[in-house]
Amino acid sequence: MAPNMNPKKVPIPEQKPEERIKNFNEVALGYTPEQAKEEAMRCLQCKARPCVAGCPVNVKIPEFIKQVAEGNFDEAYRILVSENCLPAICGRVCPQETQCEILCVRGKKGEPVGIGRLERFVADVAMEKGSQEIPEIKKNGVRVAIAGGGPAGLTCAGELARLGYDVTIFEALHALGGVLMYGIPEFRLPKKLVEKEIAVALKLGVKIEKNVIIGKSITVDELFQEGFRAIFIGCGAGLPSFMKIEGENLNGVYSANEFLTRTNLMKAYDFPKSPTPIKIGKRVAVIGGGNVAMDAARTAKRLGAEEVYIVYRRSETELPARAEEVHHAKEEGIIFKLLRNPVKILGKDGWVVGMECVEMELGEPDESGRRRPVVKKGSNFNFPVDTVIVAIGGTPNPLIRQTTPGLQVQKWGGIIVDEATMKTSKENVYAGGDIVTGAATVILAMGAGKKAAHAIHEALQEKELSSLV
Ligand code: FAD
Ligand code: SF4
Ligand code: SF4
Repeated sequence: MAPNMNPKKVPIPEQKPEERIKNFNEVALGYTPEQAKEEAMRCLQCKARPCVAGCPVNVKIPEFIKQVAEGNFDEAYRILVSENCLPAICGRVCPQETQCEILCVRGKKGEPVGIGRLERFVADVAMEKGSQEIPEIKKNGVRVAIAGGGPAGLTCAGELARLGYDVTIFEALHALGGVLMYGIPEFRLPKKLVEKEIAVALKLGVKIEKNVIIGKSITVDELFQEGFRAIFIGCGAGLPSFMKIEGENLNGVYSANEFLTRTNLMKAYDFPKSPTPIKIGKRVAVIGGGNVAMDAARTAKRLGAEEVYIVYRRSETELPARAEEVHHAKEEGIIFKLLRNPVKILGKDGWVVGMECVEMELGEPDESGRRRPVVKKGSNFNFPVDTVIVAIGGTPNPLIRQTTPGLQVQKWGGIIVDEATMKTSKENVYAGGDIVTGAATVILAMGAGKKAAHAIHEALQEKELSSLV
């Protein structure tokens, strides 16, 4: 079959911006089988497989794409899930442009192959057909505990279950998925799909204990006393950071974490059908420039705000959000106020009425390599808004480190690990995902979970399994 040499990706159908700002349905609608085959034909099946090196879980990219091009969607799915247990999710939210697709040779003279779009297509077809196979597993009876049911914990659990371990996930909330459920909005990642894909990934017999907070309901040391032989900590970095400026306690100021959790997990957008309301004003300022800020801004728009602003202290070049999210936000009428920073939130009768901001300019690069924003002297101005959403990142909840003696952490609270094995300073305790790296990506968290699972297997094989023989 001759490859399709069109330099552009087959466009993915999307809801129109003027329609989608009135609903929470998914923005991108996905490929038809014909569109998927046409896009798959753009892959040159490179022998050196450069794209695979960009994927933290080593998806066999050319192999699964070849099957799509030939119309063998079940086989494509089988190849995909052999390395990635959450392909419908990754196909939607992976920053492919900086991971697998950036290394695609087609990107040198045009657009790279739409690897994420194809991954999503294959996973969606399999889920619709229910064609996922559950492999036969020989159980070894060795117990491993997983703290946190986000992408890192789920992947570690799935991998270990496949290797025969008796795995239990302890999750603080009433739902699994972590940020996939409470952070990323419905219009980017439908929650029904997340639930379905997680259920398939855990069909290998993983036990789930919801509403259990490790460090409060039970400690890491107590888990060992209960008979668990190894523990993986994947509790994320969900404690929101604030700007520490005057006025942050006013009514109408949210952390993005609270705002998105109320909207996504508690379905505030469906109030009064859901029991959780959320108050949103007419003029909303979202502080920050990452994916979280874009999600909060686009959510505010859908909840009925008339004007929504992104207030970010650097310029467009430094925006940390995915280019696609910035593009979608602009299409939806989000207004970008760049090189601006709030210094005070203004209030009246306990409610937000505006922000005092300063203009910024860019100085020398800082330790992150990005140019440092510097305040322009005398540039203070008032900016009337009635809701402020703070989306400037988060850190790990201190509970685990406070209750786990022997666990070494960074100054900012991240757990220190050996990067090759994800082993912490405490015997038989491993960690991965945002609790190690700080806010990062779904696929990096999954990659860490997978790496830890194999290191746990290697360590336990030596200690536990050899004694069983
Ligand atoms: P989490 O997803 O945070 O999961 C941690 C889990 O541990 C949670 O379920 C939590 O309830 C549980 N937990 C916490 N403490 C305890 C405890 N003491 N005991 C038991 N359980 C506990 N990444 C992308 O790749 N693409 C995107 O488009 C993207 N968009 C994002 C949008 C938003 C709004 C946010 C907030 C993040 C986004 N990210 C995105 C980042 C990505 O979601 C995270 O990097 C990823 O979810 C980290 O996975 P994790 O498993 O380490 O942690
Ligand atoms: Fe690319 Fe993410 Fe799929 Fe890996 S999991 S191939 S990084 S889209
Ligand atoms: Fe296909 Fe691009 Fe990977 Fe080559 S680099 S195998 S063209 S996806």
